[in-house]
Amino acid sequence: MPSKGSVVNKKELEIVKKTLQECRSEIIEKLSDVQSQSKIIETDIAQDLADKAESSYTKEFLLSLSNAEREEFLQIDAALKRITRGEYGLCQSCQKEIGKKRLRHLPWTPLCIDCQEKSESETA
Ligand SMILES: [Zn+2]
Repeated sequence: MPSKGSVVNKKELEIVKKTLQECRSEIIEKLSDVQSQSKIIETDIAQDLADKAESSYTKEFLLSLSNAEREEFLQIDAALKRITRGEYGLCQSCQKEIGKKRLRHLPWTPLCIDCQEKSESETA
């Protein structure tokens, strides 16, 4: 039995972190393509954005994403923050451990399957 808080071991956490950072960079890159057509963005601004991303995003940046992208982007970012705080793998709603299988499939998910189903049935 895993002890509390060890759903994801350190090595796995590193892999998850990398995956999340890659997903995030992809979104930022895609976005910088869009923005370079309309001006501002210089070559390394995507990296710059990524650096600043830990603390804040510009409104313009978030607005330029589609709803689905923005949702995913914010979830990815929140997951990275949870890794930093050592809370990764815990459901943000009920604080229980999120299943490993679920985390593999959706590494940025903030909710365990039960809470996800609950929230979906509420919005449906
Ligand atoms: Zn939950």
